[in-house]
Amino acid sequence: MTKSNRVAVITGASSGIGEAIAKTLVSNGYKVALLARRLDRISTLADQIGNGSMAIQADVTDRASIVAAASRVESELGGADVVINNAGVMLTAPFGSDRRAEHRQMVETNLLGAMTVTEVFLDQLRASEGDLVNISSVAARVAPAGFAAYSAAKWGLNGWSESLRVELQPDIRVMVIEPGAVATELSDHITHEDSQKLDQEYRDNVAMPAQDIADVVAFALSRPKRITLNEILVRPTIQAM
Ligand code: NDP
Repeated sequence: MTKSNRVAVITGASSGIGEAIAKTLVSNGYKVALLARRLDRISTLADQIGNGSMAIQADVTDRASIVAAASRVESELGGADVVINNAGVMLTAPFGSDRRAEHRQMVETNLLGAMTVTEVFLDQLRASEGDLVNISSVAARVAPAGFAAYSAAKWGLNGWSESLRVELQPDIRVMVIEPGAVATELSDHITHEDSQKLDQEYRDNVAMPAQDIADVVAFALSRPKRITLNEILVRPTIQAM
């Protein structure tokens, strides 16, 4: 793959897929701005991967923290060429359970958070004629019981991305990646016990490593500007749903 000297902003870079994307892009020559709430994790990662990587504590549900992050990316890295909306939570539980706050948190983080980050970084992407990558999910195509709010958020992310594609291309490319099960800490945060057990068992049997998704993102970004991989669904081969 050809080396890049572009600047990528990655939300949710403190673990899992975001962390793997950060490492992969840095090995391809990118400078990265790592955004997440856990500053200790992104600071350690920034030191580890080097190449001028920056750790910025930010919460995608807090617009002021994203505005502050964008201003640092502009002044310290010269602006974003790539924004990767990866931050997300998957707090599955029956919709009829009492997990009202978690249902809202999924929509506020996975969908509205991505909208906020994109809106705030849009001028930088316009200036660089850059790329927007939205990490969606196979749950934007299938919706098992317990996934109502998660699927609503990811389905919403896909619809929003499709309209952005029409609005922003050809200046800014819009790509949606839909991973199947990936071995990360995503399901560790599920508080509904039965849902957590079910998800963990499933994940233990079928999940692919986060690196598989990072490689796909790096490949999509490395395509020439004349084409865009607008939507990529990546399941582990043994995953049926
Ligand atoms: P992880 O739990 O490992 O990573 C989630 C990341 O999101 C963390 O870095 C977390 O950082 C960050 N995050 C959560 N809430 C916020 C917030 N409010 N503001 C900023 N950052 C936040 O899981 P994955 O790596 O698996 O998940 C990454 C993305 O991939 C998510 O969008 C997920 O929906 C999607 N995905 C995952 C799949 C899987 O099977 N693992 C399958 C399909 C899609 P911190 O807590 O430090 O803020």
